[in-house]
Amino acid sequence: MWNKISLRTRVTIMSAIMISIVSTLLTSFIVINANISFNESFNQLLKDNQLTAQANTLNQLYDMTINRFIIQNILFMLGIILIGFISAWFITKKALKPVHDLSATIEKIDVNDLSNPIPIPKSNDEISKLATSFNHMLDKLNVSFERQKRFVQSAAHELKTPIATILTNIEVMELDKKPRIEDYQEVIKVTKLYMERMSELVNDMLMMNIGTNEQYTKFMFSDLNIMDTDLKKEILDKNIKVIIEGDIEIKGNKSLIKRAFFNIIHNAIRYNHENGKISIICKNKKIIIKDTGIGIPNKDLDNIFEPFYCVDPSRSRNLGGSGLGLAIVKQIFDQHHFKIDVTSKKMEGTIFTIHLET
Ligand code: ATP
Ligand code: MG
Repeated sequence: MWNKISLRTRVTIMSAIMISIVSTLLTSFIVINANISFNESFNQLLKDNQLTAQANTLNQLYDMTINRFIIQNILFMLGIILIGFISAWFITKKALKPVHDLSATIEKIDVNDLSNPIPIPKSNDEISKLATSFNHMLDKLNVSFERQKRFVQSAAHELKTPIATILTNIEVMELDKKPRIEDYQEVIKVTKLYMERMSELVNDMLMMNIGTNEQYTKFMFSDLNIMDTDLKKEILDKNIKVIIEGDIEIKGNKSLIKRAFFNIIHNAIRYNHENGKISIICKNKKIIIKDTGIGIPNKDLDNIFEPFYCVDPSRSRNLGGSGLGLAIVKQIFDQHHFKIDVTSKKMEGTIFTIHLET
């Protein structure tokens, strides 16, 4: 019940209770004190002036005076409580006005546009601090919303092309009154290729939503057997020399970590030259993956971990990439609190460093 009434009413009630207690105590003290003092003085007067004959009349007069004094004081006290209550009601309104204004401004925020911060009151008080914290939160939400929006747009864009190609192929087949078996085979081949591409893409997109409550274990980098995967064939096809130096213990989710290193090494192969080289060095709580590939231009280095970001989209697409590989890597390493950084020189190669302890 108490929590359901407005803050203004609550503050007013609390102020009124406080004023009432103080006023009652003060009035009681005045009345008791007056009673004692008057009584003493009156008795003294009776003794000194031998007014005993008129004692009764004087006693009555004394009682009347003291009663009037008490009633006046109580009325005065009630008046003060009432004035206190009314003042508290208006003062609280004024004191809470900035809170009201702030909540009115917040209510006006458009959920589709979180880029406009709320104005910060000039006062350097709790309200301006609250507004500043609110703007910080708005900023973070905006970044996250924008990222989500970009992710959905890019995902839709990536899925649009294969779907459109499959549909066009089927429609062409439909128009053909006497299709040959080869035409069917061609359509099936294209459909299968694009379906595989979409399935990979959907798997990658699901990978972006992996939870953090996976079981962590300790294992050696060499236990990942990273080269005994699909990478082997690509390495042989391109005749790439792979050197692995040292070994290191990793604590984390083994399958996720394997996936992250797979993606990095896959890039090191994909964006390498024929007869190129890849070095994997494990030392000083770091894993360094160096390649002699095409390199990444400086201007793109900050963006390569963004979902669907490709330095050269048509090249990546031709190679079967969609730009999710490094976004997944970043997501996995962030979950494990591993830091990843990258340096690169165009046409010389790229170095990814994973810091296992930050
Ligand atoms: P996917 O990994 O989803 O199949 P992708 O390889 O294009 O596609 P990412 O792995 O996220 O996507 O890489 C993003 C971009 O960064 C790539 O398109 C590529 O241009 C660049 N890149 C990543 N690693 C390297 C590398 N070792 N050498 C050169 N460029 C790289
Ligand atoms: Mg990749």
